[in-house]
Parts: sequence; structure tokens; C-alpha cells
Amino acid sequence: MNYRNEIIEHYAANPDVPVLILGGGVNGTALLRELAAQGVDALLVDKADFVSGASSKSSRMIHGGLRYLENREFALVTESILERNRLLANAAHYVAPLKTAIPLTSWFGGLLRSMLIFMGFKIRPGERGVVPVKFGLWFYDFVTRKNRMTPTHFITPKAEALRAMPAMRSDIVATATYWDAWITEAERLCIELIQDARCANAGCRALNYVRPRGLDGPAVVLEDLLTGQSVSVRPQVVVNATGAWVDLANRDLGLETHYMGGTKGSHLVVDNARLHRMLGGQMVYYQHADGRVCIVFPFMDKVIMGSTDIRIDDPDAARCDEPEVRYMLETLRGVLPNMEIRRDQIVHVFCGVRPLAASGSKVTAVVSRGHSIHTDEPDGPRPFAVISLVGGKWTTFRSLAEQSADAILARLGRPRKCRTDAMPIGGGQDCPVGQERRKQWIARIARETNLPEARIADLLARYGARAETYARQAATDAGSNAADKADAATAPARDAKIEWAETPLKTLPDYSVGEIRKIAAEEYVQHLDDLVCRRSIIALLGRATEPALTELAEVASEVLGWSAARQAAEVTRALDELRMPE
Ligand SMILES: Cc1cc2nc3c(=O)[nH]c(=O)nc-3n(C[C@H](O)[C@H](O)[C@H](O)COP(=O)(O)OP(=O)(O)OC[C@H]3O[C@@H](n4cnc5c(N)ncnc54)[C@H](O)[C@@H]3O)c2cc1C
Repeated sequence: MNYRNEIIEHYAANPDVPVLILGGGVNGTALLRELAAQGVDALLVDKADFVSGASSKSSRMIHGGLRYLENREFALVTESILERNRLLANAAHYVAPLKTAIPLTSWFGGLLRSMLIFMGFKIRPGERGVVPVKFGLWFYDFVTRKNRMTPTHFITPKAEALRAMPAMRSDIVATATYWDAWITEAERLCIELIQDARCANAGCRALNYVRPRGLDGPAVVLEDLLTGQSVSVRPQVVVNATGAWVDLANRDLGLETHYMGGTKGSHLVVDNARLHRMLGGQMVYYQHADGRVCIVFPFMDKVIMGSTDIRIDDPDAARCDEPEVRYMLETLRGVLPNMEIRRDQIVHVFCGVRPLAASGSKVTAVVSRGHSIHTDEPDGPRPFAVISLVGGKWTTFRSLAEQSADAILARLGRPRKCRTDAMPIGGGQDCPVGQERRKQWIARIARETNLPEARIADLLARYGARAETYARQAATDAGSNAADKADAATAPARDAKIEWAETPLKTLPDYSVGEIRKIAAEEYVQHLDDLVCRRSIIALLGRATEPALTELAEVASEVLGWSAARQAAEVTRALDELRMPE
């Protein structure tokens, strides 16, 4: 029996569960881990794949949120910077400091507007000059003065700034440079949160492609969308962590709420070597003429740029459209006028909906990115409370999970057993930090497994310290360590199997067959797009071509049992999901 059937049969026989979490984005998965650490059993379900909402569509900034200071959100910025520093320590395999340059075209520009926004006026921000930006950066440095994990900011005069980045608009007076952080494998971190929860407490379970279908007496009916099978569970508390879908999911529970007012945001992934080179490993954080703040930064060998901020009612309808593509290219021309991006250099686009709290403001930029927790007490036929998580940033997922867990523990009359603020996540446990330690780590594992250092470096970037398990498995399977090589002549059958597993994919040679099999078998993969969009950054880097998808479907089918017809259907489904705007 596979693990999904096991879980469904478990609840069919034992429908009581203390906590039911709806939504497997970063907030739902973090809450599952938080509850697991407290010894509380919970079931998490997502109507689609885990991390298929905003959590895989963000700008990947793990940041304080410089511009929120204008809105007087000092508490949010402080909390975000502290959480950023915690992630730099606890998820060092994926989260790293990011040097950021802000081009500035005046010394005092935007002061009046900034002051009016600071006083509570809901107006569009203006172009900010050196002085207001320096004030914000000083605040950043002040918050981290006792736990400094990134360098402090500095201002670079015009001539020097243009020497460093000659393509930048020439009317700047200076640039400000500061450090925030970015995350490489945001999706994998959420999967690791689920895996950590499962390890900490086997009573915590997670199912993707399962959604609530209303109430049956005191029970919530859950439908497995892959099989049509239903199971009812009786929770003491339901946590609605469905992000932009919060009000829609509440409706499924017979609860009418109006908590959300999401905006869609799109990004482009661009393959342009000149732009990549010019950025020199740093992000440019710039303001477009309409006041919107945009970013452009190198991501592996590509460049990510974005984003838009457009009100949307139906989160399921969010797609990056052609006017957004034109807008993003236009904003880049504003800051880097001599940088030409051809349409055929856009290798991927993605679009998600920010789960913002409902707000009357017409200016989306000034709507708070903070989070809140709303509790709807048991009512009528619904015997359990519904706790809705509203708003929030990727950066602050742990603190939101901690605050929601505290509310749940109080309700269940259970004590808090431990805190998660210094708890490493997944492959962040024992991950080597810093260039020298990484080099030594890679050299040691390469020596012990006989695998090339470049392969170990790839595995480390993808799986953190868990790369060691992958490498040892790969070495055994490939027969590449000394003992296995000696055995090979006398064990042809075993060798044949082994040869197959560490074989590089033809279309993506930096991935091995064994690696893809392992992900497909162990990481809740149900569809091919789960594998390329949310268990790896293959799609994000524009590498999910039809030949690559076909090969990946073939390899995944070895462990998922897909027929030839199913493989073809999976390729079509993935291509559809990855279609570019026309
Ligand atoms: C364009 C953009 C850029 C952003 N950039 C940043 C950034 O740089 N830094 C930062 O800190 N934050 C950023 N954010 C914000 C951040 O991404 C979100 O705050 C965060 O991902 C929200 O996570 P979540 O788990 O609440 O929601 P989501 O990730 O949206 O997860 C909700 C999940 O609920 C599931 N679901 C929906 N309905 C149901 C149902 N009825 N039953 C079960 N499951 C259901 C969905 O399938 C989904 O998987 C950005 C957001 C966007 C859109």
C-alpha cells in the first residue's frame, strides 16, 4: 500500500485529529513542523501540490523590507530582519546574503511624499533620494547591531557607481549598497519542513491534491483529488493557511469571511549573459517612474526580474500576461537603458498572488505585508474553531507559525515544549557555511565517494548537508567507490542496476537517474510538474524543454508506475503549466 492510501485508511479508522491544516505553502508547512516539535498531531492537506501557491512564486528575497519603513512598519521590518538572520543560520544551504545596489537620482527626493506616507496618507510613493534611503538603511544596521550577519550599508558616488555598472542610467547622483538575503530552493525548503515534521512526530501527516468538501456533522470531508476517494476527519481546530484562498477555503467550511485582498505579481527569468555579467552577483533594487519598486538579480546562470502588483479577485485565474511582460521590460529599460533584452531570452515566467489583508487602499504598494491571525469560534454545526492566517511574507513564516502554534496550544491546553528559532531546517543541519568550509566539505565527500567535486557541489547546492546521503548512495549505486569497483566483476547484476542509477540524464546531465528516482519516490511527487516546478528549479531556470520533460517522465515512471499514456499526459500537462504569455 502506498503512503497516501495508508494515511487515508488511518483516518478512516481514526478520524480524530487535534489540528487540521488547510494549505501547504510555506506557512502551512512551517506550522506542521512547529506543531510536530511540540508533540501535537496534525494533518496538512493541500488542494494542489505543496508550495504551488505564492510560496513558489515569490521574488525569493529573505528581507527586512526597506520600503515598509515608510509605512511606519518598524515592528514588521525588525521581525523580518531577525527572521532573515535566523534563516541565514538555520537554512544556510539555501539562504545566503545578497548584496544590493539602489540607484538614487537625487539627494532629498521623495522626502515630502515619504513623510506624508509616514503620517498615514495612502499615496503612491515617489522616487526616493539619498537621504530617505540612508535613513532606512541606518535602521537596518541598527536592528542587527548585536547579531550582525551581513555587512553594513554604504553610499557610492556617481562616477564610481557608473564605473562599476556602466549600463546604469546616467542621471544618478549615487548608489546605496546594502545586504539582504535570497533563497535558492524555496520550494525544497517547504518539502523539508514537511519531512522534518514527519521525523519529529509520526502523528503529523501531509497530503497534496486533497481538498475539503464541506462538513458532515462534526467532521470535515476531505476528497483525494487523484482518486476521488473521500475520508472524514474530526479536528479540534482547523487552521486555514491557504494564503490568497483563505476566504474561499472558509466558504468550504460554511464560514463567510472577507479577510483577503490579494494582488498578483509576475516575474521574468531571462537568459542574457551581458546582464548577468553586469550585475556582478548583486541585485539592483530600483524604482520605476510610476513609483513601483522593482528588482533584478542574478539567479544561478539566469537573471530574475520583477514584479508587478495588480489587484485580483480569483487567485486561480492568476497568470502572467503580455502587458505585464512589456511593463517589466520597460521598467528595466528605465534603470539600465543600454541593456537590450530580446523576447527569446525570456526562458520562464511565473505569477503568484500575494495573500494581502483586505484593504480599501487603491495603492497596493502601501498595503501592509504584515500578518495577522483571525479566529472564528465554533458556530452552529461547526464544532471546531477556524484559525485563518492572513497576510505575511515568506521571510516571516517561522514567526507566524510560532504565533499560530501558541494560539493552538492554548486552545488544546498543551504546553510549548521547545522553540524553533535556532532549529536547523532539513539539509541546513550541519551544512558547511562559508567558502573555505564548503570547499573542504566537498573535497572530503568527493574523496570518500570517488565522485567528482563538481557533482558534490551540485548536490550540496540542491540538498544541503543531505547531499552526503545522496553522494554515498550515488557512489554505491555507480560502483564508483573502491570497494564497489572491486566487487563489480563478481556482481554483474548488481553492477547493472547500479550503473543505471548514477547515469547522467541525457537532457540534463547535471542530474542523475538515481537522483530523480529518489525525489520521485520520497518527496510526494504526483505529477511531472511537481518534480520540475517544486522539487527542483529545473523549470525556473527554463530547462524544462519537451525532450527534458519526456526523459524525466520516463525516469519518474520507474518508481511511480506511470504507463506510456500517462507519461505523455504528464508531459502535456507540464508544458501547459509552463506555457509563455502570447
Ligand atoms: C509576486 C510575489 C512576490 C513575493 N516576494 C516575496 C519576497 O521576495 N519575500 C517575501 O518574504 N515574501 C514575498 N512574497 C510573499 C510570500 O510569497 C507569501 O507571503 C507566502 O508565500 C505566503 O505563503 P502561504 O503559505 O500563506 O500561501 P501560499 O504559498 O499561497 O499557499 C497556500 C496553499 O493553499 C492551497 N490551497 C488553496 N485552497 C485550498 C483549500 N481549499 N484546501 C487546501 N489547500 C488549499 C494552495 O494550493 C496553496 O498551496 C511574494 C509574493 C508574491 C506573490
